[in-house]
Amino acid sequence: MNIASLLVRVSGAALALALGSHVMVAQTPRFSLLIKGGHVIDARNGIDAVRDVAIAEGKIAAVAADIPATDAARIVEARGLYVTPGLIDLHAHLFWGTEPTQYSNGPSSVPPDSHSFRAGQTTLVDVGGAGWRNFPQFKAQVIDRSSTRVLAFINIVGHGMRGGPFEQDLGDMDAKLTAQRARQFHEQVVGVKVAHYEGPEWEPVTRAVEAGRQADVPMMIDFGGNEPPQSLDALLNKHMRPGDIFTHMYAHVRGRTPIVNAQGQVEPYVLAARKRGVIFDVGHGGGSFLFRQAVPATKQGFYPDVISTDLHIGSMNAGMKDILNVMSKFLNLGMSLQDVVKANTARAAEVIRRTELGHLGVGAEADVAVLGLRKGEFGFVDSGGGQMPGTQKLECELTVKGGQVMWDLNGRSRPLWSEETSR
Ligand SMILES: [Zn+2]
Repeated sequence: MNIASLLVRVSGAALALALGSHVMVAQTPRFSLLIKGGHVIDARNGIDAVRDVAIAEGKIAAVAADIPATDAARIVEARGLYVTPGLIDLHAHLFWGTEPTQYSNGPSSVPPDSHSFRAGQTTLVDVGGAGWRNFPQFKAQVIDRSSTRVLAFINIVGHGMRGGPFEQDLGDMDAKLTAQRARQFHEQVVGVKVAHYEGPEWEPVTRAVEAGRQADVPMMIDFGGNEPPQSLDALLNKHMRPGDIFTHMYAHVRGRTPIVNAQGQVEPYVLAARKRGVIFDVGHGGGSFLFRQAVPATKQGFYPDVISTDLHIGSMNAGMKDILNVMSKFLNLGMSLQDVVKANTARAAEVIRRTELGHLGVGAEADVAVLGLRKGEFGFVDSGGGQMPGTQKLECELTVKGGQVMWDLNGRSRPLWSEETSR
């Protein structure tokens, strides 16, 4: 009998004592789950050390050096593993559906639960799938049906990312109506998205910023598409506000100036934008992450604020794969594990102004990832098809959301099959 199943039995016996005329105090364990002996990385609370993490009633109940196993109904042995807050993916496409409309109720988006927990994620943020016209449908069809916490940037285009002419129609970019929907669904909407516009006008950007101002949320931009490209300097240092998010930071695509110039240097105005508080997000995707940009940029110390996937059908089976693969690229580009984890926990939560998420403080929602860091010979592929060798790779062992085990790669939270007594 292993210790977890023994504890389950003890707790069952204690409950039985509560029967009868004199109700005795049941010795139910204080904690529903105890993750023992893992190396906790919790940037918000300044923890970077071996700690036990105890969960009760869906919340973090204690984080301490040695919490007795007898206090918990279930134990997860996490020695040699890292224990982090549930990961947040700041850029994904989740408004899946059957309309031939790309990322808005269409087949290019993916169901959140199919991708989240297996990669340590408890929160995914859809960026721009829905606009003010179809946000209620997105909520009913995806947000309300997912176990993953789904948040959203609402598109400045009323129809959202329906593709083609829909996203070029300045007449459907209404700051006031977008802000109204953002306020109406303030529990889910964390920002305004502008993307895919191909024209010389600044109107889509200024209207998205205006909607963000009215709803008091940040704006995220997927910039470019016009030839010749609009000024990246003007975007980053005139139009964007501190706290607004520039995604696809390591892209080099038609119609957008890259952040690393032809001389291999990060443009000085890009450094200036970071100084004034513009947020830089990876948004890897199927076409937006090149080692030719990321290697020189990171060598010059220009790392991302947030390491997101841009998850959709065109990225999930290509160089992107999943958030842990993208985070692993940055480990191999010289970023510390602590900084990589912080980018997708405490920092991501700050960027979307949901600071109740992304940490393991007592009382916080019990969203936890248990990660292995494998050492060996690995390869990583960018969106140009180039490969970079590496020696470190993150793997998800266990994901807990709201105290529930949602993913358990090796059955660490389970009793041995021969001692499992539920049926
Ligand atoms: Zn995207």
